[in-house]
Amino acid sequence: MQTFTSIFLSVLAASVLVRLWLTHRQIRHIRAHHARVPDAFADRVPLEDHQRAADYSCSKLRVGRVMLAWETLWLLLWTLGGGIDMVDHWWRGASDSPLLTGIAVIFSVTLIASLLDLPFSLYHTFVIEERFGFNKTTFGTWLSDLLKTAVLVVLLGAPLLAAILWLMNQAGANWWIYAWLLWMGFSLVMIWAYPAFIAPLFNKFTRLQDETLRERIEKLLTRCGFQSQGVFVVDGSRRSSHGNAYFTGFGKNKRIVFYDTLLESLSEDEVEAVLAHELGHYKRKHIRKSLLLSAVVSAIGFATLAWLMRSDWFYASLGVQTASTHAALILFMMIMPAFTYFISPVFSALSRKHEFEADEFAHSNSDYRALISALVNLYRDNASTLTPDPLHSMFYDSHPPASIRIDHLQQIGSGGSSA
Ligand SMILES: [Zn+2]
Repeated sequence: MQTFTSIFLSVLAASVLVRLWLTHRQIRHIRAHHARVPDAFADRVPLEDHQRAADYSCSKLRVGRVMLAWETLWLLLWTLGGGIDMVDHWWRGASDSPLLTGIAVIFSVTLIASLLDLPFSLYHTFVIEERFGFNKTTFGTWLSDLLKTAVLVVLLGAPLLAAILWLMNQAGANWWIYAWLLWMGFSLVMIWAYPAFIAPLFNKFTRLQDETLRERIEKLLTRCGFQSQGVFVVDGSRRSSHGNAYFTGFGKNKRIVFYDTLLESLSEDEVEAVLAHELGHYKRKHIRKSLLLSAVVSAIGFATLAWLMRSDWFYASLGVQTASTHAALILFMMIMPAFTYFISPVFSALSRKHEFEADEFAHSNSDYRALISALVNLYRDNASTLTPDPLHSMFYDSHPPASIRIDHLQQIGSGGSSA
């Protein structure tokens, strides 16, 4: 057996085992706290809601476990099982152009892999979300979302893929620098275009109508020196009763988006505090920092791919007989997640740090008590568990667990921290 085959199998096995172990811990921890609401939430979250959140979280974790087994099986079939090699051979017989063959192979594999994941998407929306009362999507909307996404992936993805494959073939040893520049340019254009052109294909965005609320929000925006296209409401309730608020775009195209479901469940004070938190992300330059980080990560990714592409053992040890740029690209995209899994806690930790900073900003610019009550409402309405396993949370959570986040807000609220 090739050395790299053993390395790949060991890393994959380790990542699967760690995932299963963390899932097991999380389920055990949630079940252990099933019987009663944590003290900090006792007067705000009814036992019934707490238990619903616990059951909801455990259901998702159990499906996640089945999905992990399914995806791991397919990863092995695609690589060592010769799946990619088979698709590659088939298209080589059908086309003489290396570029067209490359695009066809990558699209075929992506299409089959997406079809294989569809049952899980269906089960998630129409069984789990339905059972816990979150689903508002009809099968028609689900299907049309899927088709729209597929069309977008082809329209936007095919030219990008063709350009990258062309650079890999023709641009010499430094191709990865050009490919990386192209990738970063593409990402920036997407961030800019997403709020104005792509998101409206799926949802309706309207300007916030409520006069008094809008006035308060505009005051807050001027107070924080924030210029944007304004505050929008998205009809999230068409698909799901989960609520959220986010910040999107950059330059003049940036906007703040509230889910209609969120506006329904929060008071004006709470909306203002949530918005102040979102502004905190912007003011503390989190968007810029995340972009910079993803630029560094993708540069490392492209450089690694350039090195692997030149190494014959890379193909042979992963079940592909004929070396080619497209085989290198697709093998790389498939096996990388197993390797990068182990550095994901670093990114989660950074994201949680940003959440704390945004909370501190919200504390300085609005009423922190309103933010606390907004958070409790959000956790309750979204059925997010109040009692996550600390290790699971450390590994995965982009937001600090509810109790820690609220403690932090209370601490800075009572002047306990200088931050
Ligand atoms: Zn945040």
